[in-house]
Amino acid sequence: MEYAGVTDRGKVRENNEDFFYMDGRLFIVADGMGGHVAGEVASREAVECFVEAERENRWLDPASRLKRCMLAANLRLINMAREEPSLRGMGTTLTALLLEDAAYICHVGDSRAYLWRAGKIRPITRDHSLVGRMVEEGRLSPAEARAHPRRNVILMALGTADEVAPDIHTINPLMGDRFVLCTDGLSGVLEEWDIQRILESHYKAEEACLALLEEALSQGAPDNVTVLVVNMGRETGRFKADKKRRWSLFHRGKNEA
Ligand code: CA
Repeated sequence: MEYAGVTDRGKVRENNEDFFYMDGRLFIVADGMGGHVAGEVASREAVECFVEAERENRWLDPASRLKRCMLAANLRLINMAREEPSLRGMGTTLTALLLEDAAYICHVGDSRAYLWRAGKIRPITRDHSLVGRMVEEGRLSPAEARAHPRRNVILMALGTADEVAPDIHTINPLMGDRFVLCTDGLSGVLEEWDIQRILESHYKAEEACLALLEEALSQGAPDNVTVLVVNMGRETGRFKADKKRRWSLFHRGKNEA
């Protein structure tokens, strides 16, 4: 297994309110909001709290544990904002990938997770945003959503309400699968097809991350950009044994496209 992550202020924003974490088992991206310092505090605090809670609740099954982590991070932000008036109104998205017996993806907000399998990319998460809902209802195309004046309206975020109901997805990863976690600074600029094309021409996680960031920057990067790429099965004994299979998956995907 091999992974990399990158975050960048982008070309317009003065600060970076995104935050990410990865340790080879747990991967997180968060996109803070709430004005000058508050957004930075929100994403960092939520991620740190999430990581702590994950460590403390290992006795729980992965799905319940991720939910508990999300609730803990939500509570942390709410309490901080109660104590510190300058942090009022802060919030953050959070998308986490946990690799155990399977891959567990948990999210709140519009930061995304994609799965790249056999040469094709597909979204795992559904945006908790106004435009995300309109796309699902068939009222907007993904391209229209990216240009919509209300594209920043989030329907669920950490720190903004006492209750959060995170979505959890379980995937049985195959050798050669690749996970992409990103904030809307990437998915709001690049088409799904762009992401797929860049992944296809950059296999190494670090190169893929940098190429995705580069593409977002070249398209103006109006928002902070964060992207993590996790390649399953690289650099392990199991990977070597399955190398043929990985390439056959890869080629099959190419043939289909
Ligand atoms: Ca953002």
